Amino acid sequence: MKNTDTNKVRNLLLKREQLLTDRLNRIKTDLYHQKQAVDPDFEEQAIERENEEVLIALLHEVESELADISFAVKRLENNTYLLCKCCGDAIPSQRLEAIPTASLCIDCSERAALSQVW
Ligand SMILES: [Zn+2]
Repeated sequence: MKNTDTNKVRNLLLKREQLLTDRLNRIKTDLYHQKQAVDPDFEEQAIERENEEVLIALLHEVESELADISFAVKRLENNTYLLCKCCGDAIPSQRLEAIPTASLCIDCSERAALSQVW
């Protein structure tokens, strides 16, 4: 990967990171307001609790993507971005174009997916 490409990926990742951070803050604000507003109506409360679960699930999703991004940026800085973190082989550039936060080669990611199922 050429230096200019690395910069492009880095910019892409940082832009995505900014977007996700904004989203994270919005979710946190929503959650905070939900905790503040205690509705006397029981049914309303049940709905709110459901919303809260959705928000918390979203929060975890965004947080894990943010972690992936900061890991990818670190790997760019260490010049290990193109290498699989598991076996050290090169990650195909088509794969990185499709998933800029990929840190495993295809073989290792398939193995990881399999071990997650079990
Ligand atoms: Zn690998």
